[in-house]
Amino acid sequence: MIKNIKNMVDVFINVFKLLWKSSRFYFIGMLIVNIFSGLTLSLNMIIWKNIINTIQKAFETGSTKLALYWLIGFMFLEFFQNIMDEANQYFKNILASCTNKYITKAILEKTKEISMTHYAEASMHDKIKKASEESVGRTMNLLYSTGLLIKGISVFISTAIILVRFNPPTMIICLVTSIPMLLISMKIAIKQFAIYNERFENIRFIEYIKALLTKHENVKEIKIYGVTDFFIEYIDKLYKRYIHEDKKIRKKFSFNSMGAKFAENIVVYIIKAMVCIKVIILKISIGDLTLYISAIDNFKSAIANILSVITTIYEDGLYVNNFFELISLEEEKSSKRELFFNGKFERIIFSNVWFKYPGASDYILKGVNLEIESGNTYAIVGLNGSGKTTILKLLLRLYLPNKGHIYIDNKDIADMNIESYYKYIAAVFQDFIKYPLSFKQNIGLGDVERMDIEEEIIDAAEKSGIYDYINSLPAGIDTKLQMEWTNATELSLGQWQKLAISRAFFKKAQILILDEPTASLDPVAESDISSKIRELIGGKTCILIAHRFSTVKLVNRIYVLKAGAIEESGSHSELMLKGGEYSKLYSMQAQGYID
Ligand code: ADP
Repeated sequence: MIKNIKNMVDVFINVFKLLWKSSRFYFIGMLIVNIFSGLTLSLNMIIWKNIINTIQKAFETGSTKLALYWLIGFMFLEFFQNIMDEANQYFKNILASCTNKYITKAILEKTKEISMTHYAEASMHDKIKKASEESVGRTMNLLYSTGLLIKGISVFISTAIILVRFNPPTMIICLVTSIPMLLISMKIAIKQFAIYNERFENIRFIEYIKALLTKHENVKEIKIYGVTDFFIEYIDKLYKRYIHEDKKIRKKFSFNSMGAKFAENIVVYIIKAMVCIKVIILKISIGDLTLYISAIDNFKSAIANILSVITTIYEDGLYVNNFFELISLEEEKSSKRELFFNGKFERIIFSNVWFKYPGASDYILKGVNLEIESGNTYAIVGLNGSGKTTILKLLLRLYLPNKGHIYIDNKDIADMNIESYYKYIAAVFQDFIKYPLSFKQNIGLGDVERMDIEEEIIDAAEKSGIYDYINSLPAGIDTKLQMEWTNATELSLGQWQKLAISRAFFKKAQILILDEPTASLDPVAESDISSKIRELIGGKTCILIAHRFSTVKLVNRIYVLKAGAIEESGSHSELMLKGGEYSKLYSMQAQGYID
């Protein structure tokens, strides 16, 4: 119980912090407006009492003047209430947008910090998805509920003052009878949150499948294999199970809350009966009778509102806590590292590097030693799964070695300030990003700071050989890509690859990393890029993975990787002379062509 209360307090503090950080001005504005809104309700009751009493007096005096003044006062109060309602809507809407902005920005900022190791965990994907999907919607609810809470408290206090003057125990009984309902509602909220967490990965999976089935580039394969029904059946089964569970839980809670409400109502009516008796005995005016009866009603509904709002805030707050959990994840801040890279170096050395992926039991790299000299071109060759891409990932410091070190001129890259390191590196991955933007922006994103320099974007596009095609399109380099968007065009995989290569060229980095950059290119484009690779990268260091030996043979030095270790290395001619693994692989490929 104490833990629950502490959790609840934490959730509340977090929610208020979130709203405060999103916009102080609108948050305070919303608070003030709701306090006034609540107070007007009690004033409303008092004025109404006076209207009735003055009318009653008018029977004796014959003067309706006073009643008229109170009625005019009542009209102004309603007018004031309308202004407060409108102001509340205004503050709430703007605060909602500010909070949305704050949450979205904070989540995206955080994703910059999350390491690849964390990204490999399913729980991290759950966290990001929960935070980004639920937080925004739930914060809207929270805003609404916070407004109601403030108003509820304000009504509670003002009606409590009226009731205390009348009879203090009445107020305490009303308060106590509301507790069972609070406990039931909190239990529902906690149960629902547990269910949500339990189901989250499955729901995320369904969302993923939905997106997969409707993605433009997947439609053709889905139609040919007719897989949609398989997934529909899977999703249907899962939802049926959830609906069955939900029905059971809901039934139980509905019975409980019906019982609690029934008991509560009986108590309230007993109190009201007592008020009536007291009015008769003490000969209190009719105006006072209406004031006290409506004070009891409003006091009760203020408590009910406060309690139900507390449970909704608590429930929504539990979901928004995902956001706080994500934001407070302690990721290692590379910018705190002192070692800065300025792009100049003599050699990069892998010294006895061992590596296994997080959670995996087997080592993928088993004592890799290799050397990369500045200004030279290198290729890593080997069979699928031998660890070539893994070497590049370590070189890019997406992961750190489990054993051994990677040095740049005797400095361990583990100690390097990562932003300064990435500034001088460009990479083309096998699964490069296809941004739903224009050609120009797709290439320009290689270097955001220079993305408006059109001549250099064109130059990079020319180098990869895609420019002539871009230029032939009506909108030229401003043509949007990906058919899912309005006025866009689609590229072939080879054309996308050329675009990704252009993006890397545009960055003007010192180190260029290419993971099978020509795999989808036609023979003409491949030979064109391969033969010019040294000229294209212009004296920079290049490390590439390639399966086509026509590209590989042109580099300065080749590393042959076998089962996670370097088997041999040298230039194409040296390795051919040696007659080892490389010459075997080369001959196999060459044989395939000759046949
Ligand atoms: P290559 O590039 O030589 O084809 P990779 O370096 O991509 O090989 O992969 C080497 C091995 O590491 C493969 O067996 C692959 O299954 C495994 N692997 C790759 N990425 C991950 C990952 N993120 N988590 C776990 N294992 C991985």
